[in-house]
Amino acid sequence: MSMAIELRNKRVLVVGLARTGVATALFCVERGARVRATDTRTEKDLGDAIAPLQKTGVALELGGHRQELIQDADLIIPSPGVPADAPLLQIARAKGVIIWSEVELASRFLKGRLIGITGSNGKTTTTSLIEHILKTAGCSTILAGNIGTPLISGVERTGEKTITVAELSSFQLELIEKFRPNISVFLNLTPDHLDRHQTLKSYGAAKARIFENQTEADSAVLNADDPGTTPYAPTKPQVYWFSRKQRVAQGAFVKENDLLFRREGIEEKVLNLADIPLPGAHNVENVLAAVAATRLAGVEAAAIAKGVRSFAGVEHRLEFVAEVGGVRFYNDSKATNVDATRKALDAFPGRILIILGGKDKGGDYTVLQTPLREKAILALLIGAAAAKIEKQIAGSVAIEQAGTIERAVETAAHAARPGDIVLLAPACASFDQFQNYEHRGRVFKELVHQLERQAASTTSRGR
Ligand code: ADP
Repeated sequence: MSMAIELRNKRVLVVGLARTGVATALFCVERGARVRATDTRTEKDLGDAIAPLQKTGVALELGGHRQELIQDADLIIPSPGVPADAPLLQIARAKGVIIWSEVELASRFLKGRLIGITGSNGKTTTTSLIEHILKTAGCSTILAGNIGTPLISGVERTGEKTITVAELSSFQLELIEKFRPNISVFLNLTPDHLDRHQTLKSYGAAKARIFENQTEADSAVLNADDPGTTPYAPTKPQVYWFSRKQRVAQGAFVKENDLLFRREGIEEKVLNLADIPLPGAHNVENVLAAVAATRLAGVEAAAIAKGVRSFAGVEHRLEFVAEVGGVRFYNDSKATNVDATRKALDAFPGRILIILGGKDKGGDYTVLQTPLREKAILALLIGAAAAKIEKQIAGSVAIEQAGTIERAVETAAHAARPGDIVLLAPACASFDQFQNYEHRGRVFKELVHQLERQAASTTSRGR
């Protein structure tokens, strides 16, 4: 989808210097652009993050910025963390300066085909699964986007045969112009990030921009079971659906114990439901989406099945940690919103001790009442949102104010009986007590491994 632009001598302003911003600044300066980069954080706050920019000719303005920076720019690339309505960007927009997200810029230089995945939940799992299936089938792939490696860092490695699989957030899609995936996937839409997008409608509209530049030659994959996404079905690209509940006209669906793909009236079996190595109905949805996307990319059904069977899952997404004294511990630290937590509760038959809480993102925890009543035996609350959660789930399950994750794990381990599940699926962000959700997940896993070691030493001493 190359629509390369000439960067030589362009005056580019990169706003926000996390990983994506640094990669973008480097990319532009290497192509002869005159690059300035700014961040509200100071040089000291940024530390090693900006080391790659030293001696590259990128002019840095840290700890804030002057208005003139905008006047002097032909193109502004804000980081995904910078809100589209930030004052700096509003002024730039009023002055007619072009503002692109990094994925828009990257797409101008990308060779080969592009599969883009968006949605509220399941993006990373589905993106990783699609890439894994393609790679297992022998395709040359790049895994990029909102998933660790910025798309811009992968561009150089693409060739005509490459399939780039990119996870896309609403923040990245909000600032595109011609960005056009050959195959787009819109997984689901549930309230998340409403702190940044004022309404569900504007959040959904930002995500649906994934379809905006697609043509008849492209394909779009949507969730037929999710009333949040169906209204966004596009008209230009070929539309394929996925569903756990019904046969679809075109796309992937479940029929009895099989997963099928249907195109132009022809149905083929791809795999057995029992072949899916990940727990929960939501992961069946992710697999269906991946089946549709990879089949559309030309992978044969048998090769797709092989890829799904050998997929190990992604860390911090309903990740099995250990079994200690017959109690199984699962790390779903990435469940940072209520819907993901609901899906995690749904994934187990019952007797769950769940750790909830953290930094509130404005979620409505009352929707957890029914699944908690049906599946959980104890809710252990941690972090800043604990009081709000207690109020909103009161009466549905026994509650313990644990305060910290250490206390929560300890209390859960004492309270659990063999056969029970201890689940970290906190429905909140982590930033009140941890650096990020990965940090929270790792702390949880280490606490579980400590229990495992204690149990092992008690057993060996008892022998
Ligand atoms: P994202 O990248 O969209 O945040 P992840 O794959 O990282 O998605 O999963 C985020 C959380 O959502 C995890 O807790 C995971 O178990 C849960 N989840 C995964 N897939 C789905 C889905 N299809 N629907 C709802 N929740 C899901």
